[in-house]
Amino acid sequence: ARRDGGWKRVVLKLSGEAFAGDDQLGISPEVVGYIAQAIAEAVSKGIQVAVVIGGGNMFRGAELSQGGMERSRADYMGMLGTVINCLALQDFLERLGIETRVQTAIHMSQVAEAYIPRRAIRHLEKGRVVIFGAGLGAPFFSTDTAAAQRALEIGAQAVLKGTQVDGVYDSDPRKNPAAVRFDRLDYNEVLTRGLKVMDATAVSLCMDNGLPIVVFDLMGQGNILRAVQGEKIGTVVCP
Ligand code: UDP
Repeated sequence: ARRDGGWKRVVLKLSGEAFAGDDQLGISPEVVGYIAQAIAEAVSKGIQVAVVIGGGNMFRGAELSQGGMERSRADYMGMLGTVINCLALQDFLERLGIETRVQTAIHMSQVAEAYIPRRAIRHLEKGRVVIFGAGLGAPFFSTDTAAAQRALEIGAQAVLKGTQVDGVYDSDPRKNPAAVRFDRLDYNEVLTRGLKVMDATAVSLCMDNGLPIVVFDLMGQGNILRAVQGEKIGTVVCP
């Protein structure tokens, strides 16, 4: 599915957990600075980069609701947390001289633009990085699903999921030293084997629309640029 010379436009999905670095909570300036630097490099090579950021370093709705909170309210807390991450990345990118726009699925006009797909495309065409916040703006979804949906709507060629593992394994590599990593998978295999790529809603959406997913280790040296350029890295899920 990967074209020679890489992609023209991609959605980079960054897990919120990664933003915390070793601290599990909050935002690590080292991590966000590192990510911003890599995105800046990709942009300088003419690749259009849109970003979706998770909120795992702040709140996850499902976890809060296990503690007794009403699920939708908990999910809104999760969505608002993603916006804080967006602003952090925006700041680091702009300090590197990269123009950015944050667009959120929940309106907050002092802080960010509203999500307007055609405007997002226009920003990307001008070389700006568009950072999508607040997921889909709806409870019971994940930012992975938001990444897939945004990619489809703005015509990106792939969703690149940067995580803390270097791809998809047949079992948990931290528990099973014999775990085997996949180079390539098809969507059905991911769904039927319950492999941890993205949640089933996100994977189904990609499957129905033939959108490739690349899962890679976000913090590996040079990995973001490699993924964005369409090089072979991590695990690719494609038709
Ligand atoms: N969320 C939501 N709808 C969305 C996207 C996110 O309700 O469209 C909420 C949900 O509670 C989720 C939280 O925001 O747990 C943070 O997002 P996510 O768990 O996807 O972050 P990640 O795991 O990527 O850090």
